[in-house]
Amino acid sequence: MHRRRLIVCVTLVLTLGWSGISFAEKLRALIVDGQNAHDWKGTTPVLKRLLEETGLFTVDVTTSPPRGADMSGFKPKFHDYNVVVLNYQGDPWPEETKKAFVDYVRNGGGVVVYHFACAAFPDWPEYNEIIGLGGWGGRNEKWGPYVRWRDGKIVYDHSPGRAGGHGPMQAFAIDIREPNHPVTQGLPPRFMHVEDELYGWLRGPAKNLTVLATAFAPKDKGGSDEHEPIIFTVQYGKGRVYQIALGHTPKELQSVAFIVLFQRGAEWAATGKVTQPVPADFPTATEARTRPLLAGN
Ligand code: ZN
Repeated sequence: MHRRRLIVCVTLVLTLGWSGISFAEKLRALIVDGQNAHDWKGTTPVLKRLLEETGLFTVDVTTSPPRGADMSGFKPKFHDYNVVVLNYQGDPWPEETKKAFVDYVRNGGGVVVYHFACAAFPDWPEYNEIIGLGGWGGRNEKWGPYVRWRDGKIVYDHSPGRAGGHGPMQAFAIDIREPNHPVTQGLPPRFMHVEDELYGWLRGPAKNLTVLATAFAPKDKGGSDEHEPIIFTVQYGKGRVYQIALGHTPKELQSVAFIVLFQRGAEWAATGKVTQPVPADFPTATEARTRPLLAGN
């Protein structure tokens, strides 16, 4: 009798539990691509898969017309999403689209600025504020300061000069500077990334900017001899913006450092929280790690 009741109970819990999981609403992510001096056709499918494999996201991709083509019909529905991943660097968007994007972020939308998206739209002031720091596209000191980690703290450096640059591909260590942020919580203070471009000399308005991680760019490897911000956040209105400077081509997206920072950053941008555990194959202070399953993408 008791046993039977127990079985019914367990069955009910399991059924309800499972249906609860299967009907749980996923977060919605939108990847924007279509123009980029980088291999967006190669990287977007990997970014999409990385988001999907968290089990947290459904992912759409919106691809703009090619460079030089009529952009007037390019109107992604940003407001339908929890996070917009920018894999775009190219022609200006129509005014209506620019306004919709700024409204989306201001009203609490999440944004991930991936690698060369920091070079997009140099002449769009709100975009520069949203991304915090950018490079290339003619940017210089008029766009804002460099942000560096010197003597244990963040320093804004207003000295004149170019914005954006990097030495040859090199492996480098990533140093966490804000260990209590949801994205970085539980990560070791230092870990290795694979050979990649180490972005430096980024500059911009840097308002409401929090540097989560830096990487040292040695002068003898084409760097600034500074600890460069490579993972940082910006609060823009109610919106959460997460910039990740890593990931030059699909090959570098196999780095577990990239994968974890991208997946956690996207969740944080979407919700303000991170529920993903740190995986067992996370890199160490001396050894980068890769997931070869992504090879060929
Ligand atoms: Zn690159």
